[in-house]
Amino acid sequence: MKRDPGCIFCRIVAGEIPCRKAYEDDDILSFHDIAPWAPVHVLIVPKEHFVSFYDVGEAETPLLGRIFALAPRLMKELGVTNGFRTLVNTGVDGLQEVPHLHVHVMGGPRPWAKG
Ligand code: AMP
Repeated sequence: MKRDPGCIFCRIVAGEIPCRKAYEDDDILSFHDIAPWAPVHVLIVPKEHFVSFYDVGEAETPLLGRIFALAPRLMKELGVTNGFRTLVNTGVDGLQEVPHLHVHVMGGPRPWAKG
């Protein structure tokens, strides 16, 4: 499994930086965003290091499927039953700040801080 020791999300996956965990299995970690836009704002990340959405291919289709299938399940578990947003920022023009593929999942009653 690829890992970048300088990557903040790889360090969270390794337990070197704390997070508020929402879900974990062998391949996927989800944790609450440190600067939430919405009452509930989690990130879902593959444990393996992929810089961005650009860096996944056919081989990652099952992993991506599992990540997206997790989103509604997690939202329900976290009490979000009135809808949510799912966002993947990719690269410079996509305003991606952390270069480790992640899916934002945001929900909860409006108004939100952003988005
Ligand atoms: P993006 O612009 O899509 O790369 O978003 C990166 C997200 O990671 C932002 O919403 C940050 O608030 C969030 N973030 C950065 N560092 C941490 C951290 N240590 N724990 C949780 N979320 C983080």
